[in-house]
Amino acid sequence: MVLNEAFGEPTIAVDTHIFRVANRTGLAPGANPMAVERALEAITPPAFKKGAHHWLILHGRYVCVARKPKCALCVVRDLCRFPEKSVDA
Ligand code: SF4
Repeated sequence: MVLNEAFGEPTIAVDTHIFRVANRTGLAPGANPMAVERALEAITPPAFKKGAHHWLILHGRYVCVARKPKCALCVVRDLCRFPEKSVDA
């Protein structure tokens, strides 16, 4: 996280938000944070690697929240593979 935020390195450190979003959506499933990090780094195009970390954290913090994700407001709802997507905001 420090490498990405402070030094501009194209790293994707996996915190609780990113871990949840990656698994829930099917974007980069993994049994632990390291597996998710490797999966995200493998599928993220180089041009988006620096921003991906921040975008995924914000998505998990404000839209794809832990208890009741705001699927009705979600801009990636059509791409998300979460079988329990809600229809109400
Ligand atoms: S549709 Fe719902 S579960 Fe899927 S990413 Fe969006 S908020 Fe999360």
